[in-house]
This record gives sequence, structure tokens and C-alpha cells, in this order.
Amino acid sequence: MTELRYITYETLDDGRIVRITLNRPDARNAQSRGLLVELNDAFLRAEADDDVRVVILCGAGPMFSSGHDLGSKDSVRERTPGPDQHPSMSINGGTKLAAERLMLQEWHYFFENTRRWRNLRKITIAQVHGPVYAAGLMVMWACDLIIAAEDTTFAEVVGTRLGMCGTEYFAHPWELGPRLTKELLLTGDSLTVDEAHSIGMVTKVFRADELAEKTLAYAGRIAERPSVASLLVKESVNQSVDNMGFYNALNACFTLHELNHAHWAWATNGQYVLGTPEHGVPAWRDAPPVQPRSKNEVGG
Ligand code: ZN
Repeated sequence: MTELRYITYETLDDGRIVRITLNRPDARNAQSRGLLVELNDAFLRAEADDDVRVVILCGAGPMFSSGHDLGSKDSVRERTPGPDQHPSMSINGGTKLAAERLMLQEWHYFFENTRRWRNLRKITIAQVHGPVYAAGLMVMWACDLIIAAEDTTFAEVVGTRLGMCGTEYFAHPWELGPRLTKELLLTGDSLTVDEAHSIGMVTKVFRADELAEKTLAYAGRIAERPSVASLLVKESVNQSVDNMGFYNALNACFTLHELNHAHWAWATNGQYVLGTPEHGVPAWRDAPPVQPRSKNEVGG
């Protein structure tokens, strides 16, 4: 494993638990290419280690992850051709043109990465806090269990802020149910941690100052199960859901996602792959704040 810049990797509880921390707090743990490549390496390292039973994924700083990195200095450097460009930009479709390039790069680094982590041969726990939006949801949903701080909120803002139908890994209807998925994508409104707990998406809710300690204790409880039982529980659920259509639906919705990007590229003469203000999508930097979902107010 190469030197870690964007995450940390700790082995705890006599090697039975690994804690991976997204560690770009100044960028609110935005998922740059460097971070995603390191995160994949870290997950694979934990998967290869026969002593590891549970992997905790958490974020340093004010929130778990703000989503894909759309504009930090690091992310511009990674994309810009030259000596500092990230090496993954010249493989896996990075040298191709137009929609082929975007489709292949997003398939490798957003779609298939996430699916690989969802199928990791270990039990994974996302430990989240703060606002969890868009690609933050995607990485969180790839985990088997979700433990959240009391201040956590969840929103899918790509419909209202980017003119997109969802993120690349479209687990939304499976996590939220079909109608709530439509509502959240059409409004951008957020769910409280209690709402998320009541629909079964969140496993536990702890006070923010106790989150790390209690998540570790809970991971210790899960790590007591024989690893074969844990793996087969996970696999039984994953195979059930795959047989209900999860995997095929993910593939189908990934293609729709790429169609959505291609639409914006066509509409903006190839300048942008996301919606722009002249097409009714506010610039994402000045988009209005996310509102909590309300039962009896129109909102907006
Ligand atoms: Zn995309």
C-alpha cells in the first residue's frame, strides 16, 4: 500500500477491527480521486487480512463526507494534464473521449468501487456525523451497518443542485423505498437521524461526543460472531437483494446516470456534464440551504 495522504488506517482490538478514517477535514472529506483510490486500497487491505472481522469507516472533522470533490485545488490538480495529474486519469478510460471517457472513469471509481466495498468479505460499519449528502450516502450505503451521531442529516441534493437523477450507485430505492426516493430527489429535503432510524437505514444513534467510542464497542460486539457466520449472514442478505434485482437495477440506473451527464454535455456544447444556471439549475456553490423534510409545509 502506498503512503496514505487522504485517509488513515488503524488496527484495533488485537487486529479484529480496522478503522479507516477519511482524513481531509479541511475539504470536509470530499471524495477526490486520490482519496477514493486510497480508500479502495485500504478496504482491500482489510479484506486480505484474516484477523480482521469488522471494518469501521468514519470521517475526521465536521462531517463524514461532503460527497464527490467537485472543485477543491487538489481535485483540479488531479484532473489537469501534466506531471501532477493523478495516474488513474490516464487509465481505465481516462485517455478516451467524451461520454466513453466519463462512463468508464465513473464506472471504475464511483460505481464498481462502491459495489466492491458493498461486497467486501468483512462486516463493514459506516460511522457518520454531520450532513451526509449525495456521494456521502453512496459510500455510507455500501456498508453493512450505519451508526450515526445525533446531529446527522441525510439528503440527496443532486436532483436540485446538479440536475442529475441520482448518484452513480443508485441504491436509493432499496435504502429509502420508492416514494421517499422520488420525494428526496425532487425536493433535495433532508431526513433527520430519527427518521432514518425509523425506516431501518440507521442502526444506532449516539451522542456526537460518544460516537467513536460506542461505535468501536458495537464493532467489538459484532466481531464476537464467528467470521463464517458473519460472512454468510452478509452474503445471504446480499444475494437475496441481488436476486430481487438490486444488481441489475444498479447497472440500469448507472446507464441512466451517464445519459443524464451526456444530456448536459450536449446542452452546454461539451462544457459541463452537470446542469447549469441557464438551464434552471442553480450554481451548486450558491444553491439554497437544504431544508428538513416537513410533513405539513410546502417548503422550497
Ligand atoms: Zn456522475
